[in-house]
Amino acid sequence: MVSHEVDLMVIGGIVLTADQDWNIYEPGEVAVDGGAIVGLGSREEVERAYRGRERIDASGKLVMPGLINAHTHAPMTLFRGIADDLPLETWLHEYIWPAEAKWLSPDFVRLGTQLAAAEMIRSGTVLFCDMYFFEDDIAEACQEAGLRVVVGGALVDFPNANYKTPKEGLQYSEDLLRKWSDDSLVVPSVQPHSPYAASSELMQQGKALADQYDAPYLLHVSETRSEVRESIEKYGRTPVGRLADLDVLSPSTVAIHGVHLTDEDIELLAQYETGVVHCPESQLKLASGLTPVPKLLEAGVKVGLGTDSAASNNDLDMFGEMATAARVHKMIAGDPTAMPARQALSMATLEAARVLGLDDRLGSLEVGKRGDIIILDLDAPHLVPMYNVTSHLVYAAHSSDVRTVIIDGRVVMRDRELLTLDEGEIFARAREIARQIVASWGSN
Ligand SMILES: [Zn+2]
Repeated sequence: MVSHEVDLMVIGGIVLTADQDWNIYEPGEVAVDGGAIVGLGSREEVERAYRGRERIDASGKLVMPGLINAHTHAPMTLFRGIADDLPLETWLHEYIWPAEAKWLSPDFVRLGTQLAAAEMIRSGTVLFCDMYFFEDDIAEACQEAGLRVVVGGALVDFPNANYKTPKEGLQYSEDLLRKWSDDSLVVPSVQPHSPYAASSELMQQGKALADQYDAPYLLHVSETRSEVRESIEKYGRTPVGRLADLDVLSPSTVAIHGVHLTDEDIELLAQYETGVVHCPESQLKLASGLTPVPKLLEAGVKVGLGTDSAASNNDLDMFGEMATAARVHKMIAGDPTAMPARQALSMATLEAARVLGLDDRLGSLEVGKRGDIIILDLDAPHLVPMYNVTSHLVYAAHSSDVRTVIIDGRVVMRDRELLTLDEGEIFARAREIARQIVASWGSN
């Protein structure tokens, strides 16, 4: 039998595929060519069929799909810790929105994205779904960093640094869809901010645009009690009910948060096959409540995990998010069997990809899928011994255990060295921006 030459082989180690059947190969091997996984299985089998131009030895390590952060606002890393311990409305209206009005620019967004990209790659995240302003600059920064991203310009009714009118916002979204539709790393989407910050008309026009380009459509929904109360007062419907009436719920629609949901809301989400993103640490920190994940799963609703922004979390660490999700839902349910480790890990891999409509090519290690692979060190006291790899990943592993990160077949971090980003320069520039922000407070 002739062996085929491929770009890259990850050799040995425990290969956790996180596929539908939760296949594990020990020792396993992965062959990647042209950015895609072409061979996967037991070490012997793959070794016979392929030889790699580049070989990464993963003996004694864990090989698994990279994590997916299904919702964040990456550039807000530059506002990390700017205002904490406040209710969502106060935090947003008195701190975040004024700071954004004063500081946002394409350069600011690009730098914040580079900082976020460094943090995410270091913590094993290979794809994040972003909603913010100047998303074209975010797309470019991610392309340079070799990091996969779903970009969506926040559509809001009010003027902002990115555009003056909702019509210009829609045009910006359409330009993103046109420019990035065929990119290998960037997936364009349409993202109205929320039913309270975008008019019915804007949400509907955004949905028509998303459908025209077959793109994901995401918005924050039912995050706080007051949002739901005001929606009922103003429209006689919960936010989810209103979205159903507006005909914007669909399998490609994603409700971010979905904290305060009625039984009817959950039925609607299931009926329209609309996914939900749960951001446990942000929801806990803002005390906005918690997405009823077990109820949603029971109803057959897709659920993925996200960090939300570094201003409300305050990090972009998906290991932390999995650990928190698995623990907090046990406590809420008063049931230690609720949210098992495998469920939490799925919500940061294959289920997150399903929510974003990308599970045909991302979210698990399978032949035909893109080569988004992370390698974790297992030689650490907190990981020894190991009876169950999945429970270790959720209850014991740290993001700093991630050694090597491969995205679309390209090594972007090798043995904890970032290959695509200059951290020294990024840190210096981020600290300088923070110094300017603090100095501006003094002059007010
Ligand atoms: Zn958010």
